[in-house]
Amino acid sequence: MKNAEKTTRNSNGETASKTKAAKPGQDQLFKFFEDGLKDIYWAEKALVKAIPKMIKNATASELKDGLTSHLEETKAQITRLEEVFSAADSKPVAKKCEAMAGLIKEAEEIMEACESGVMCDAGIIAAAQKVEHYEIASYGTLSAYAKILGLEKAAILLHETMEEEKAADENLTAITANVVELEMA
Ligand code: FE
Ligand code: ZN
Ligand code: FE
Ligand code: FE
Repeated sequence: MKNAEKTTRNSNGETASKTKAAKPGQDQLFKFFEDGLKDIYWAEKALVKAIPKMIKNATASELKDGLTSHLEETKAQITRLEEVFSAADSKPVAKKCEAMAGLIKEAEEIMEACESGVMCDAGIIAAAQKVEHYEIASYGTLSAYAKILGLEKAAILLHETMEEEKAADENLTAITANVVELEMA
């Protein structure tokens, strides 16, 4: 009797410390959230290095300008991510995003292989839009997770960046119409 009681108490104690004041799945969701932040933090930093090469290879001034303003936006997004880390009580750590590394590599391959001029712009736009869509997906998920986790400030900041990525994507769609389509007409 005494032993059984002791065992029960011990196992209760263990369970309680694992789930302390947390809903089921909360720890896993926070881990997904934190891992996702580290991933996109790396991705944004990689983009700050990659976008200048795209600007250099672009022909149409509309594309050069669009990429240049998004480069500045990207730098501010890195700072905003640091605010998100802090709002979540996490350290800003970058962890290599294999997906973004791959998207950047593909962009470089396109720029090496394309004929110069407006058709190279088409290739750069295609690569850049894949990047934006990856970011939209990442920030959308992270913002939703932040909300579920009760990290309201983080949710708002992440949503703000998602809106910027959407606008950047729409701008690239417009540039395809204005530059590539017009050139071929
Ligand atoms: Fe971004
Ligand atoms: Zn990523
Ligand atoms: Fe990733
Ligand atoms: Fe972006």
